[in-house]
Formats: sequence, C-alpha cells, structure tokens
Amino acid sequence: MAIMDLERMSKYVEVNRQVRMLLERPEKEMSIRLSTRVSSEEMIVADTYVVYYNTARGVAKGGVRMAPDVSLEEVRNLAELMVWKTALTKIPFGGGKAGICLDPLKLSDFAKREVTREFVHILKEELIAGNYVPAPDMGTSAREMAIIYGELHIPECVTGKPPSVGGLPGRREATGRGVVAAAKLAAKECLGKDLSQCTVVIQGFGNVGSYAAQFLHELGGTLVAASNSRGGILNRQGLPVPELMAHYPRRRFEGVEAETVSNQELLALDVDILIPAATGGVITGDTAEAVRAKLVLEGANGPLTPEADEILGKRGIPVIPDILANSGGVIASYIEWRNAKSGSITMAEEVYEFIDTLIERAFQAMMQTAHEHELSYRDAAMLLALDEVIGAMRDRGWV
Ligand code: NAD
Repeated sequence: MAIMDLERMSKYVEVNRQVRMLLERPEKEMSIRLSTRVSSEEMIVADTYVVYYNTARGVAKGGVRMAPDVSLEEVRNLAELMVWKTALTKIPFGGGKAGICLDPLKLSDFAKREVTREFVHILKEELIAGNYVPAPDMGTSAREMAIIYGELHIPECVTGKPPSVGGLPGRREATGRGVVAAAKLAAKECLGKDLSQCTVVIQGFGNVGSYAAQFLHELGGTLVAASNSRGGILNRQGLPVPELMAHYPRRRFEGVEAETVSNQELLALDVDILIPAATGGVITGDTAEAVRAKLVLEGANGPLTPEADEILGKRGIPVIPDILANSGGVIASYIEWRNAKSGSITMAEEVYEFIDTLIERAFQAMMQTAHEHELSYRDAAMLLALDEVIGAMRDRGWV
C-alpha cells in the first residue's frame, strides 16, 4: 500500500482516476538476483531490488541500501518517500531507490567492491541513460559511489561521490545539516526556544546522526544522549560532541564520560527534541506512549510507524516529517548532479546555505498549510508534495 493516503488528500486537492492509477503503485520495479564470484571458492548471490516510483518531476533519484533484511516492499516505500521529498523541496528529481539484500558488515572490502561493480553491470543501460541516479544509503558510502563512477566514467551518473572524484564538498554532512536547519526552525515555532537552549537526543550516530550532532553543537544546543545499534550513552550535562566525532569513523563511543543507556530508554528521555536518525520503524504503537520529548524530528526515513505517529499526534507532540527533516542529502545531491553536468564547483558553505534556504522555504510552506487546513505537519508536507507532483503530471499531459 502506498504511503500517500490519496483518499484523505482528495479532500484538499483534486485526485482524479488517472492520478490514482499513477500514484498508487510504482512506475517500474526490477527484482534481480545479483551474483558475483569473489574468489575461486566463494560466490555471492543477493536479491536486489530497484524501484522507480514516479518520475514526473525528473529522473529517479535515491540511495542504494545494503542490509541483510532489505525487501522489495521496503525499497518501494523508500522510493515513494523520495517522490514526496524531492517534490516538497522542489528539487527536479523523481523518486527511486535500490536495495541489495546483504549484510555489509560481513563483506570484505574486496567483496563489497565486486558486489557494487556487479550492481553497475546489471543496471548499466539505466545508469548510462541517467534514468536512475544512485547515492549512498544505509550500508553504502562514498566509496561505493566512487566505484559506480569508476565503472562508468560519467560524473552525473551517481551522487555522494568523494570530493576527490567529483563529489561535492559538504555532501557527507548535508543530511545532518538539513536536520539541524529544520530543528532550529521547529524549536522556534513549536517550543518558542532557540536551539541553543534545547536538550537533544539522537538515536543512530551514523552519517545523519553524527553530523546533526556536530551542527547542533556548533549552534550551542546540548546533546544529552546518542546511540548506535549496540546501545547508547547519556550525560545530562551534555556529551562532548567533538570527542564523539573523533571516534565516529570507528563507530565506537570510547573514553567519554557518560552513563550507558539502552535504545529503548533513550527514546523515552525527557528532553526538548528527539531525533531518531537510525532506521525505520523504531517508534511503534507500543513505544510511542513512552516518548517524553516535546518535539520529534525524523532524521531517518520512516522512524515512526503510522500507529506511533497517531499516538504522538493525540498527545500533542509535534513531528517534523522525514520528507522535510532529512531532505538535506538530496538537496546536496542535486547540486552535485548539476555541477557534474555543467562543470561548475561549489564550496561547502554555499551547499549549506542552499540547504538552509530550501528547508526554510519548505518549512514555512508546511506551517502555513498545516494552519490553513488544521493538518499535522506530516499531512501538510504530504499535501504540498502531492500537489507539486500532480501539477507536473498535468503539465506533462499524463493526467
Ligand atoms: P548509517 O549506516 O551511516 O548510520 C546508521 C546508524 O544507526 C549507525 O550508528 C547504526 O549503528 C545505528 N543503528 C542502526 N540500527 C539501529 C537501531 N535499531 N537502534 C539504534 N541505532 C541503530 O546510516 P545513515 O546514512 O546515517 O542513515 C540513517 C537513516 O537516515 C536511514 O533511515 C537513511 O535512509 C536515512 N537517510 C540518510 C541519508 C544520508 O544522506 N545518509 C539521507 C536521508 C535519509
């Protein structure tokens, strides 16, 4: 079932039969059995999915997720989220996603490279045509994007590359930057506070969470707790973010003065802002009652189940949705893609400014729509995105 509730949205925007037909299911789905030999003894075989959900506003853009349990349904949902994320921020891309069903932690660097190369071989025509433009997601990084580039030698065929091979300075930090840009606006709007006066918890100290912590720290906010899949650390006086960042590449919380805390306890801490930035579905109907934060920002894609979203709504805890809060990454990817096509270069500070501007524009539009129609922030953001996509489909004569 699609994430967008077309039935409910049809109260606010005209959703005709053609719109329904085009948006209730993805445009294109590929289900592939990827196989590659990594030594004379070992062969890797992995279910691989690529979904283009809708490309009315541009080519399918979305990350490559490598995880042991990734499913076609998950890839479909993530591809759909990209449609709404790019539409809300008005980035001229459609929504896509890829998933490779493998545990990246169990692969050697060599095996991961071979898997990535095979992924390119399978999708070569699509990638050369620019129909799908991959980026990093959970389990993949700039290194795999450099391998994709290395196979094709087309700079715009992939984003999230290292700056040494045409990547964008600031892309690595971009999603965290956007999370904090949204947190700053939401703290003012929802809590009447400056971010420097806020206590914050971040679940997931990976790419998104760690750089969100860094920008939060730069703005004077207090990071009280952070976690990874092994558990978390807590210090009510504030965690030393620069020290945590120094340990980030090894993904360990070492030598930091703090208590330990479980991921479940961390989600229930009494703070101003909770940022789930790890993975999907971590706050459920069972755990949402325990949330004591005054504001939730979705750093990850889909960290709240629909039941959790409803419970927080009833409890009056505002939620800034993923399609706004974590859109910094795709905004930066757009600059990287545009630069690759035109040959221009952009400095990290300009990238941050562009992210801040687009997020502020989308945030103000979301607030206005929410107030006008008495909608939750998520519904308001989804309504704006849907309106944008329907407009593009109408302009292209699709509906
Ligand atoms: P990552 O792999 O770099 O980091 C994920 C972090 O979460 C790691 O610290 C991991 O240990 C931790 N983690 C995983 N499962 C956990 C669990 N159940 N409980 C607590 N911690 C857990 O991934 P990332 O790139 O930071 O992405 C995180 C989320 O943000 C994903 O949902 C991703 O789709 C979304 N996202 C990422 C980007 C991006 O640019 N990287 C952009 C938009 C959205």
